[in-house]
Amino acid sequence: MQKGQIIKALSGFYYVESENQIFQCRARGKFRKNAQKPLVGDYCEFSIENENEGYIFQLLERKNELVRPPICNVDQALLVFSAKEPDMNTLLLDRFLVLIEHMNIEPIICISKIDLVDIDEIKHMMKPYEIAGYQIYYLSSKRKQGVEDIQNIFQNKITVITGQSGVGKSSLLNALDIHLHIDTNEISKSLGRGKHTTRHVELIKMYGGYVADTPGFSSLELHMDPEELAQAYHDFYELSFSCKFRGCLHDSEPYCAVKEAVHNGKISKERYEHYLMFLKEMKEQKEKRYG
Ligand code: GDP
Ligand code: ZN
Repeated sequence: MQKGQIIKALSGFYYVESENQIFQCRARGKFRKNAQKPLVGDYCEFSIENENEGYIFQLLERKNELVRPPICNVDQALLVFSAKEPDMNTLLLDRFLVLIEHMNIEPIICISKIDLVDIDEIKHMMKPYEIAGYQIYYLSSKRKQGVEDIQNIFQNKITVITGQSGVGKSSLLNALDIHLHIDTNEISKSLGRGKHTTRHVELIKMYGGYVADTPGFSSLELHMDPEELAQAYHDFYELSFSCKFRGCLHDSEPYCAVKEAVHNGKISKERYEHYLMFLKEMKEQKEKRYG
């Protein structure tokens, strides 16, 4: 018995990496009937049949699962936002952050196209996120500025790249080199158009880790309970232990540590307002569900 991780699925075969070797595996018949289908990213137990072939007979528990691309056990999301073209949008940023944190994925914010703006202005805008503890990178793929710093984030992790179309995801991947040569706009074109009939997903080896070959989070709809939303803001959640009421949603409750932090400037008003907008949305969803 051998342990490994599925890094590619194609035509009924699963390619499992184990101790720096790739094994072409099939899922065992019995296993496929009673359990989930293996996904790229799955940790598995498999048997080696020939030199580099085998059978997967057990999947280990997943820590998360994306629908598109179909991949699991994602460690982090490189969340790309352009400083300009399109303009930085903090409401959209907060929405992405909620989605990502709710899935137990570490967000890494990447501000692209800094050659188009005054860097101090954009850093000022991002200050609340820095205070909240997010990792933030500033870069220009065009001028190859800040690209090298990003190389260090991939080690031993599975990373999904995400962000609106046109923010510079493909350009960043190309600037990171590793002979990808993705056509500009190509990955955004393939996003969510149902073109991927073969459901072919692959993890690309990159600076000691793996990156999914298609961007994630094509849908930005939030589906969660209000309580889960409050947890998805990690800094609010940490403060919530100081709120008077357990399960405080930091809305109309008195003696709320989050509201206090907003009041004395430790949490930005804007970020809190976005939170209240999402909270309203989640409460309305819940009412619809339960009538
Ligand atoms: P994607 O849709 O997120 O993959 O974005 P692309 O990588 O296709 O880039 C969209 C547009 O932004 C293209 O016209 C790129 O040339 C441009 N772009 C990407 N990175 C930069 C950058 O660092 N600076 C500038 N000025 N333009 C960039
Ligand atoms: Zn509270």
